[in-house]
Amino acid sequence: MTVFVLGSINLDAVARVDGLPRPGETVAGLSLALFLGGKGANQAVAAARMGAPTRLMGAVGGDDSGKGLKAKLAGYGVQVADVLELEGVPTGQAHVWVANNAENMIVVTAGANAMVTPQQVSATPIEGQRVLLCQLETPPAAVEALFRAGAAKGSLRILNAAPALPQGAALFPLTDILIVNQTELASYAKLDREPTRLEEVSVAARKLMSRPDQTIIVTLGSAGVAAVRRDEAFLVEGRKVKAIDTVGAGDCFCGALAAALASGMDLRDAVEMANAAAALSVQKAGAAPSMPSRREVEAFLE
Ligand code: ATP
Repeated sequence: MTVFVLGSINLDAVARVDGLPRPGETVAGLSLALFLGGKGANQAVAAARMGAPTRLMGAVGGDDSGKGLKAKLAGYGVQVADVLELEGVPTGQAHVWVANNAENMIVVTAGANAMVTPQQVSATPIEGQRVLLCQLETPPAAVEALFRAGAAKGSLRILNAAPALPQGAALFPLTDILIVNQTELASYAKLDREPTRLEEVSVAARKLMSRPDQTIIVTLGSAGVAAVRRDEAFLVEGRKVKAIDTVGAGDCFCGALAAALASGMDLRDAVEMANAAAALSVQKAGAAPSMPSRREVEAFLE
């Protein structure tokens, strides 16, 4: 089955500095690196690397960086025919400044990502059954249109409700599998601190259920993943690895889970596989370049 991702595509510009600038101050950058980023792009790369036929729908600007990012995505095996190039609109960008003491400042400009519309979704034929995977860096109205169209075709609808947005909760009733991290869980469940123990996590996760047949998955960083359904809750423990860079671990988990489910695995096996994929991803720098192949994950699980 194909994985169909609707989501953001960004150019991430990461500059290292000795110390972060104060308002009005100019500081010299020590280095600058440009990366493919955005939750939609990262998750599509993760699914494609896990061997799933993967289509990405979204938008970039009609600029050089937009074309470059589409070419990069295609190089990872992601089908990009449904990524629009919008003239006169900039490609989404994240400007990240990282200081020597690891403090950072980030400005994300949505650019073309904000221009993805329900009309773009309706104009794209989605034949047959799919695993649909969305996040909240593109307008929720577009996600809603895709999930409604997908429901009519019997597709599996996965929502990674990140970043936590007040409008995000309106999509929960249209979602079959909801994925959040602990911070997002606390925000949607209106808790004043992040739940950690499986008991607390499952009580909080149940608050987000709007239908009895839903699954709520909570990623717990190095502690692993909790999955909560109506009459069961289980924990898949985090794999013991030496973490170098956890950026994109959540995206790796989501893309790998969608790919595993698309290949016909049941939920528990798919969570095990995605947990292993995400553990492998934290051992390498970057987001897209750290997504492991299916062969690497299978070898790690043996
Ligand atoms: P990020 O924003 O850094 O991409 P996130 O907050 O969305 O991540 P996390 O819960 O931190 O998501 O991590 C997602 C998954 O990645 C975890 O559920 C786990 O499977 C894996 N993971 C993350 N950190 C580690 C680690 N240090 N060791 C092993 N696995 C990890």
